[in-house]
Amino acid sequence: MSLDHKIAEVRALLDSVQRDYAPATFACSFGAEDMVLMDLIAQHYPGITVFTLDTGRLPEETYSLMRDVADRYGIHVPVYFPEPAAVEAYVAQNGPNGFYDSVDLRKKCCHIRKVEPLKRALRGKRAWITGLRRDQAPTRKELAVSEFDAGNGLQKISPLLDWSLSDVWAYIKQFNVPYSALHDRGYTSIGCAPCTRAITPGEEVRAGRWWWEDPEIRECGLQPDKRRVTSTVLAAGADRASGQGKGSKGVEEEEHGALAGAARETIRIDQ
Ligand code: SF4
Repeated sequence: MSLDHKIAEVRALLDSVQRDYAPATFACSFGAEDMVLMDLIAQHYPGITVFTLDTGRLPEETYSLMRDVADRYGIHVPVYFPEPAAVEAYVAQNGPNGFYDSVDLRKKCCHIRKVEPLKRALRGKRAWITGLRRDQAPTRKELAVSEFDAGNGLQKISPLLDWSLSDVWAYIKQFNVPYSALHDRGYTSIGCAPCTRAITPGEEVRAGRWWWEDPEIRECGLQPDKRRVTSTVLAAGADRASGQGKGSKGVEEEEHGALAGAARETIRIDQ
C-alpha cells in the first residue's frame, strides 16, 4: 500500500474520531510517530485537542521540539505534570533514580509521573489518540486500531498501528515535519532521559527504553499489556557493573557517539 493510501486511511479514521468521539484528545510524546499525528491533527482537526505529559525527567531535546511545534503549527501544547507531593515522597523514599533498582520501583515512578497525570488529562474525554505501532515491541502486537481502554474508561485510537518505521520517516521527510534531534543520535523511541538510550543495529525500536528489563514487560502503564507475563529484571547487576544501569554519563556519551551512525543506518535501511 502506498504512503498516500496509508495517509488517506489515517485521515478517514481521524475524521470519524473527530465526528463520533468528541471530545477526543491526542497524547503527544514528541517521538517520530507522534510528530506524524501532530502534523495531521494540528492542520486538519481543530476538534481534536493535543496534550503532553512532562514527567520532570524529559530530555532537553523534547522541550526544543515543543518550541518548534509552536513555531510551525501556531499551537502551544498543554502540559500535565505529576503531583509534586507524590514525586517528593517517592524521591525521599527511593532516591532520585530509584527506578533502576527494581521493576516495581520503575513502574511506581511511571505511575506517579505518567499514569496519574494521563488520567487527569483524559478526564471528560470520549477517546484518546496514540502513536503506537504494532511492530514497536512484543507488548504491542495484539493491540487494535480502535479499542476500549477499560483502565481509563474511554476509546483508544492508534491510527499508525500498522505503519512501519519506514512509513513514519517517509512521511516526516515528504512533509518536512519537525522531529526530535535525538533521532539523529540513534534514539528510535523518545522518553524520559534516564530511561532511554540509543539502540544498536538489529535491536527492536523500543530496545532503548528500560533496557535493563525483560523486553516482554517494558511498558510504562500508559499502554497496559494484554498478555500475562512474568516480571523479571534481566542482568541488572551486569548492566550496573558495565555502567549502563545507572546511566553513567561517561558511558552514555561514549555509547551515543559509537551508536549514532549505526542507528541512522538502521533508519535508512528501513526506508
Ligand atoms: Fe520514571 Fe523512568 Fe518511568 Fe520516566 S520512564 S516516569 S523516569 S521510571
